Amino acid sequence: MTVVADAFAARHGGAPAGVWFAPGRVNLIGEHTDYNDGFVLPFALPHRAVVAAAPATGPVSRVRSAQEPAGAVEFTAASVAPGDVGGWAAYVAGTCWAFREAGYPVGEVVLELDSDVPVGAGLSSSAAVECAVGVALAGLAGVQVAPTELARIARRAENEFVGAPTGGMDQMAAVHGRAGQLVFLDTRDDTVERVPFDLAAHGLELLVIDTRAPHAHAGGEYGARRADCERAAAALGVPALRDAVPADLDRLPDDRVRRRARHVVTENARVLEVVRLLGAGADPRGIGPLLDASHTSMRDDFEITVPHVDVAVEAARAGGATGARMTGGGFGGCVIALCPEDAVGGVTAAVERAYAERGWAAPAVFPGTPSDGAGRLA
Ligand code: ADP
Ligand code: MG
Repeated sequence: MTVVADAFAARHGGAPAGVWFAPGRVNLIGEHTDYNDGFVLPFALPHRAVVAAAPATGPVSRVRSAQEPAGAVEFTAASVAPGDVGGWAAYVAGTCWAFREAGYPVGEVVLELDSDVPVGAGLSSSAAVECAVGVALAGLAGVQVAPTELARIARRAENEFVGAPTGGMDQMAAVHGRAGQLVFLDTRDDTVERVPFDLAAHGLELLVIDTRAPHAHAGGEYGARRADCERAAAALGVPALRDAVPADLDRLPDDRVRRRARHVVTENARVLEVVRLLGAGADPRGIGPLLDASHTSMRDDFEITVPHVDVAVEAARAGGATGARMTGGGFGGCVIALCPEDAVGGVTAAVERAYAERGWAAPAVFPGTPSDGAGRLA
């Protein structure tokens, strides 16, 4: 996507100082485990946010997105603070702020952004923007920032400047992703291990099915799930549900809280089992039942799925998928389906048919190929 560099040149009459990118992500397994100090296993997508940037000649920064036709937004990177910039540009200005807060020099910039990460589909278009801006700021300042520190800066922009109370998985996947690999993240201490996930070598593909279901009530439900998990941990006397084991669950008298905790405890165990299987070089088909069990747990115990999601999962399995689950926070978003290559057409057709029968808009289906994390393009 050097088209963004061309757009920069056309608008500013010269080449940018550099072009940087960061990807969206899909979580293979480990849902709602991040705020319980648990394990997640995302990978970076080939879909990316790309920024072309250069130092500004004047005392203000000017940023523009190809996806935001209303035009450029201006702010002063040297002094911008939470509350100063709203809307989409808050993700950019917030990263400037967090970068400065981390002690790095931030000058005024002109910046053109373009992204093919679907927005609001649970594929982390927001972290892609933050991390792309973060690597651009590091590049412009001529400083080395370690990937995990960059992810923390980006997360701070999202939490404290944009005001979205999210965990750190998205940004960590965006900076640590590698082609053909999964990012195994322990959210308790932010340690990362990479796990091989070479699907083509096994004749497999991972389909991403964007259900395009409307995201209703997701914010409030997210808060309610977090509160239930905190209640469960407090009742069990553990710092976080990551420290609980299945035998503890019987000690939770409230049925709803016990089911919420059971999802987290079993989901963490499933992540570890997937890592064990893939790390040992097993055929990835072996993780199919774990993907299915994760979905059942999200549907019945954590209650975060919706009909669009459940129908896509059922249809994908009926169409020949080896395993399928919702990915992301829930109440809409995407489904992933592990498919033998010769079943991809049948799985896609089965999901499209199931949606058409219900009069639902067709989902977007594309292959999720583990790809590289944030870096410099030019
Ligand atoms: P997700 O990260 O799952 O896609 P979020 O609600 O966290 O959804 O972030 C989406 C928001 O990020 C958008 O509403 C917009 O403000 C910002 N954003 C993402 N991509 C772009 C882009 N290409 N240009 C401008 N803003 C973007
Ligand atoms: Mg996001």
